Amino acid sequence: MLDSPHSGRDYPADFDYGCFLNDLRKAEDSYVDEIFDKAPALGVPLLCARIPRVYIDVNRNITDIDPLLLDTPWQGPIAPSNRSAAGFGLVHRLVRPGTPVYRRKLSQEEIQKRIDRYYTPYHSVLSALLDDAVFLFGCALHLNLHSMPSCGGARAADIVLGDRDGTTCGRDYLYMVRDNLIRMGYRVALNDPYKGMEILRRHSAPRKGRHSLQIEISKHLYMNEKTLEKTENFIRLKSDMTDFIARCITDLQTQQTFPLAAD
Ligand SMILES: [Zn+2]
Repeated sequence: MLDSPHSGRDYPADFDYGCFLNDLRKAEDSYVDEIFDKAPALGVPLLCARIPRVYIDVNRNITDIDPLLLDTPWQGPIAPSNRSAAGFGLVHRLVRPGTPVYRRKLSQEEIQKRIDRYYTPYHSVLSALLDDAVFLFGCALHLNLHSMPSCGGARAADIVLGDRDGTTCGRDYLYMVRDNLIRMGYRVALNDPYKGMEILRRHSAPRKGRHSLQIEISKHLYMNEKTLEKTENFIRLKSDMTDFIARCITDLQTQQTFPLAAD
């Protein structure tokens, strides 16, 4: 199954941000949901967040709450990580370094509402889809979809795979994904600079047959990062990613002893 946690662009009416919408939109993993939208026709479920990641980031720990956002101290469990310290916790304080999202403080009630309405349901549905896969097939293969700003340079990777340093999926699954991408001509890096965050941490359990892998696609492959418009290469990339999913399915169907189920 696939999930795209950061491609949402339905900006809720109660967001009340104090920066330019265009700056918020640059934080989206733009069009990732659309790039993979042929997967369900191949039998692969695709879960997409509709809300933008700056509103509430489902790829953060639920306690990663930034005290600087709040009008009064948080009542309840709170454990701000270095992501919160940088301004990109559960609710982002900054849209990029030095540029605040809000010109106001947020109430605990407001953040709790975002958790209850969007964060918790996203994780519940994701969990249910993985449970279904384990029930039906004995294991779940999950690809957590993202896009990344292009870092530039001739040696920069097109795609970065993340398995939190070898802890979130079996080697066979990782190598199958990596090798299919390389065969299609993409330059692939592993865990550098993106290892995977809360979604992988929370939902993966390779020893129980739950294999989660993060994929970050460089935006330069399909969009103009300044204007946020798709480039003419978008169609090719989308077709490649559909083909990539199809190749993985073929690999799984032909490899009868794929050693991925729970041990
Ligand atoms: Zn992302």
